[in-house]
Parts: sequence; C-alpha cells; structure tokens
Amino acid sequence: NGGHRLDGGELAELDRRFAFHPFTALADHERNGPPMVVTGGKGAILTDAAGRDYVDAMAGLWCVNVGYGRTEIADAIADQARTLSYCHAFSSMASDKPAMLSARLIEMAPVPMSKVFFGNSGSDANDTQVKLAWYYNNVLGRPAKKKIIARERGYHGVTIVSGGLTGLPGLHAGFDLPLPFIRHAMAPRRLWEGHGLSDAEFVAKLADDLEALIAREGADTIAAFIAEPVQGAGGVIAPPEGYFAAIQPILEKHDILLIADEVICGFGRLGQMFGSSVMGMKPDMMTVAKGLTSAYFPLSGCMVSEKVWRVLAEGGSKFGPFGHGYTYSSHPIGAAAALANLDLLESDALVARAGEVGAYMQERLRAAFGDHPMVGEVRGQALIGAVEFVADRAGPAAFDPALKVAPRVVKAALDRGVIGRALPSADSIAFSPPFVIERAEIDRAVEAFRDAADQVWGELKR
Ligand code: PLP
Repeated sequence: NGGHRLDGGELAELDRRFAFHPFTALADHERNGPPMVVTGGKGAILTDAAGRDYVDAMAGLWCVNVGYGRTEIADAIADQARTLSYCHAFSSMASDKPAMLSARLIEMAPVPMSKVFFGNSGSDANDTQVKLAWYYNNVLGRPAKKKIIARERGYHGVTIVSGGLTGLPGLHAGFDLPLPFIRHAMAPRRLWEGHGLSDAEFVAKLADDLEALIAREGADTIAAFIAEPVQGAGGVIAPPEGYFAAIQPILEKHDILLIADEVICGFGRLGQMFGSSVMGMKPDMMTVAKGLTSAYFPLSGCMVSEKVWRVLAEGGSKFGPFGHGYTYSSHPIGAAAALANLDLLESDALVARAGEVGAYMQERLRAAFGDHPMVGEVRGQALIGAVEFVADRAGPAAFDPALKVAPRVVKAALDRGVIGRALPSADSIAFSPPFVIERAEIDRAVEAFRDAADQVWGELKR
C-alpha cells in the first residue's frame, strides 16, 4: 500500500468487502454496521482504530485469561519461532516444548490423567474425543457402543461432530445437525427447567431424565457423556449442588465415559485450576483449549485417563497406526506459548486472583442487577457470570426473541466503552473478563451494563 497506513474506515471497508465472519449475518455486514476495528490490547483493555479504549469484560471469547499484551508470552513465541518454528508429531517425531507441556498438564490434572493429545481448537479436540471414545469401544469389541450424550445448552464447538454435541438448535440450522449418533440430556438450568424446585429435587429430575434417556437408547449403544463444568455459551449455567455426584454413578453403572469439556473453565476461571475440581467431576477424558495459551496461539488438548489409555494403546494390534492427527498437532510455538502462560498463572498467582476479583464481580453484578425489573437471574461464580433478561420475573416469562434484548444491551454497553457478550439463546449477557482485571474496571463494566440495561428497559416500556 505504498507505506500508507490504513485508517479504521479503510480497514472496515476491506473487511466488509473481502471477509465474512463467524456467527454473523452473511447477507451483508451493513446489517450489523461496520466492524469495530481493534488495533491493540493491554491487560483488560482493548483499543480501537480511533484510539478509543474499552474494558473487555469477556476476555475475547472467554479466553485471554492472563490479559492482553503479555510480553512474557510474546517473547516465548518469538524465541520458539526463531529456534524451531515447526516440528510435526507424526510417526513418533517429537520436540521439546510439547513434551514439556504434556508432562506439565498431566501433573496439573484435577484427577489422574495419563496422556495428552494436542490439537488446534476446542472444536477439533472434542471431535478427537469422540473418535477416541469410538476407538476405545472398537478395541473392546463393542462397536455398537457409539452414541454420545451431550446436554441441551452445552457448547462444544462447531465442526460437524462437535457442532452437533453443542446443544443449541440455532447452531444446527442449515447444517443437518446433530449427526444421528448424538443425543442431548436436559440442561441443568435453574431459572427454567429447575424453576420452583429445591436443589435436591432438581438434581433428581436431571438424573431421572438421564436415566430415562439411557434406558430409551440402550446403554450398550452409548459411549460417552460430555459436559462442561459450567455451561458457558449456553447461558453460564452452573449445575445445582450435587448434580455430578448424582450423574456420575449413573454413567459408571452403564459403562459410559465422562468427558469434561474444560475449554472455558480450565486454567482458573472458576477460582481453581480446573472446573472439574470445583464441580466434583471425575472425568475419564478432558478437553482443554482457550485458557491453555490464553489465546496467544491456537492450541487444544485431549487428556485421557489410564483406564482409557490402556485400551487405546491396544488398538495398534487391531487397527495399525492411530489414524488421526493434524498438521499442527503438538505445535512447538503453541506449546511454548502455553508453557509461558502457565508460568504466568503461577508467578502472578492468577488463579487465586480469579477467585478474589471474581467474588467481587459476582457481588457487583448482584447489587446492580438483582432487583432490576427486567432481570430474571444473575448467576455464575468467580470470573464467569451472566445476567438473564425476562419479560416477567414472577413467571418467569421470556421476552419475545424478536426484541433482541440481550444484543441491544450489549450494543448500548459498547457505546459506553465496555465489551460484553450477548448469549441470544439465553437472552443473557455474559461476563468473563481477564484474570488481571482491576476492581475499578469491573466497576466500570458493571455500571456501563447497568446503564445500558436501563436504557433498553426504557425503550421497551415506551
Ligand atoms: N468447548 C467449549 C466449552 C467452548 O466454550 C468452546 C468455544 O467457545 C469450544 C468447546 C470450541 O472451541 P473452539 O471455538 O476453539 O473450537
């Protein structure tokens, strides 16, 4: 471009003409207005092309946990790119950083894990988990045990398999999803499915629903159950007290593997290193991504327990070499980024910090929204939270989706310099900031969202 530095308007125009975006109306970008062009980030703050600052109350997409602009990770990435930019992991090639990272992850795991397989994203890792669960049952000589039970409102990605595991019908539309081997159990959603029930009653209802689903399908057709410790994109839904304690014996009884999708909760968001510990999950397999590198590099991992590994390892004699893997599996730059990220979590005690500032965020959200006339529920724990909008708090009764309440609130907050995320399927706004967010930035975010909600409430009453 002859040294001409493009301004925000020119960049937006290039984007509009030549790119299309995830989760965005495809017909034309005008429908959503021009994109906001972001040019920099530091801590919990993003800067746009016009030089305006925003508090990123979502850490990107629940992922920039150590905050933007961490030179320690940038340096680790640059060093690795200079030393060994790439090394594939096929046919028993290995490089130093992925080897070190695998040992570190196995040591950190919330329940004993035996091995890790690296991928590029949460979606491909969950696809891998399904293949592993199938391979496991094939090695055991039970090829019919293949169905996967996920949950309504779960989010596990968007590839052809993981997109079906995702329990949000809006993301199946137009794609013939879910594939026929996927089933969904009831979401542990207090405001709706659990309305009016005690925790014990709700847990019993959810356990009955799962038992009935397994009985209908036949346990000998079901390979695995996949669950997030706290459902993220489906609405920030934590299960009622005692949920996994009730669910896990059912899975064990029917020899169904438990896959914990730790893509959001893993690496500290709930104030402990893994969501499984917080929720009492004892998974056979764990999916990690996002916070593994704080999104400085795309990297995911599938961790498997010794019970699963022992069987997988026998597969070679039946099927030959394991026929699965990506060009970028075990990417050395990704592993270097992850190691530097894990160092920062430790050296800056960021998991404990997520618990502390998280408690503050929860307090502030409840104070700001607990009595709001259009809020049905404020939920979450530590550094993940959501506020759900309802037309009638007593019912509860939902707003007409055409009113787009949550997206309007998010837009009004953006105008006030705060980035949040609308979860339209739950008519909620989500909060999932970097662990380094300051209390004053939490105040700024909560106040902006409170004003934004007041504005939209005023428009709705008119
Ligand atoms: N699993 C969970 C719990 C997620 O939140 C996400 C992404 O938001 C995924 C899987 C998919 O990860 P990715 O977008 O990296 O494919």
